[in-house]
Amino acid sequence: MPWFTRDKTARPQAPAEEDRKVKTEGLWVKCDGCRQIIWRKALDENLQVCTKCGYHFRLDAVARLRLLLDGEWEEFDKGLTSTDPLGFVDSRRYTERLGGMQKSTGLRDAVISAGGALNGRYVHMCSLELKFIGGSMGAVVGEKITRAIERSLERRVPLIIVSASGGARMQEGAVSLMQMAKISAALMYLDEARIPFLSVLTDPTTGGVTASFAMLGDLNIAEPGALIGFAGPRVIEQTIRQKLPQGFQRAEFLLNKGMLDAVVKRPDLKDYLAQALDFFCGPVA
Ligand SMILES: [Zn+2]
Repeated sequence: MPWFTRDKTARPQAPAEEDRKVKTEGLWVKCDGCRQIIWRKALDENLQVCTKCGYHFRLDAVARLRLLLDGEWEEFDKGLTSTDPLGFVDSRRYTERLGGMQKSTGLRDAVISAGGALNGRYVHMCSLELKFIGGSMGAVVGEKITRAIERSLERRVPLIIVSASGGARMQEGAVSLMQMAKISAALMYLDEARIPFLSVLTDPTTGGVTASFAMLGDLNIAEPGALIGFAGPRVIEQTIRQKLPQGFQRAEFLLNKGMLDAVVKRPDLKDYLAQALDFFCGPVA
């Protein structure tokens, strides 16, 4: 029998790393813009915009609707869900991945299609959810957005789409790419009927979403600092064998080059959209 056995229960134990984390977790956030530590409550009150440097944190789809619509909204096509047309498997089955995402986000796919008032005017609004497989556009996202466009056309209601997406959904292959053409064609009818479509691009908006509806707005409006592009900078650099300029694919750079109509800070976004709709449709009756 060892004669230097310590009685572990006799000494007060330092709190485990896990316990310590739980107590302070969530109170403070490190800003990706200025690297300073900010109080989460101050960040919440400032619409997830850094109080020190103005860096715009990402918002989820529901928070976005809450920010831009006056109160309650009605949701359309809530039950649509992907059928896994290719029987796709990568590191796991696509159906499993979908199931996991549906559980963690509480959504059936990566977009919420809603109708509600924006400063008193009824609008249709689609809000993409980046947390759902990178906000990628498969058949469901494509169909919900197309239906929102058709609904806008039928009821003569302005449409706003808030994008946050990595692009087309690889797991749905060509079915996913087809959505780009489908949505773009529907938007053409909306344009012919002279019903406004405002596109809001948030961080990040890339790939097939940028290459279709996100850039087809009567106004294309971005949030400050948003990454907006088609292919990623590394792919472009390797293809053209040139170093890319500073700020490449950021909202301010694109505004400067004429790719965007405006860069609007989040606290001003709702009023900006309302003003734009006043301009297109006349003041609210
Ligand atoms: Zn900051």
